[in-house]
Amino acid sequence: MDGNAKTISYKACPVGGAAFRDADKIWLSGIIPDHNHPRMEPDNSPTKEKQMGRMEQHQRFMDMALEQARAALKAGEFPVGAILVAEGEVVAEGCRQNSGGVAPTELDHAEIVALRRLLTQKPEIKRSSLTLYATMEPCLMCYATLLLNGVRRLVYAYEDAMGGGTSLPLAQLAPLYRELAPEVEIIPHVRRRESLALFQRFFRQPDTSYWQDSLLARYTLEQQGS
Ligand SMILES: [Zn+2]
Repeated sequence: MDGNAKTISYKACPVGGAAFRDADKIWLSGIIPDHNHPRMEPDNSPTKEKQMGRMEQHQRFMDMALEQARAALKAGEFPVGAILVAEGEVVAEGCRQNSGGVAPTELDHAEIVALRRLLTQKPEIKRSSLTLYATMEPCLMCYATLLLNGVRRLVYAYEDAMGGGTSLPLAQLAPLYRELAPEVEIIPHVRRRESLALFQRFFRQPDTSYWQDSLLARYTLEQQGS
């Protein structure tokens, strides 16, 4: 993605690698259908019990992404956290950076921060084995970047009603995207309530200026649940 990736430096997330310690080795091989990306069920369809077990695994990893989001909020950033998981182990984590401060950008989204870390620190990881956990639905930039870097399974907590990118109709795009469309799984609303609570706290802060008075802010503050 970036020929200069190895020279890029970035701030460490405030919680560092703490979230890694409790990561058990868990296989994440389940398929939870999503209306945006319908798939054929395999012949050995998982039982309801197994599906529940997988959802518990998703919740457990999302809890780690939420730790990243809380660290972002504590640092005054938009509260988004992300982790990447491969074969049951957390291999990278990230939280939103530069959503405020003297030079705010729309580049250092949590998913991009985590992906950069993975590509610079663990380039040997098999990309197709990756699952992204993000506390907010990935935007168009992050969704496309993750897909182009081989990530095919995305789990998110809170929908981005203003700028979410995962409803992009891949099958109607150019061949590169059309061909990967059947492989993409989107699993929404894992730990939605917990993530929503962080965004509501962010938008209720009197000194928040990032996306203040936006559709996202209004939508978030109208939601029940915290
Ligand atoms: Zn993004």
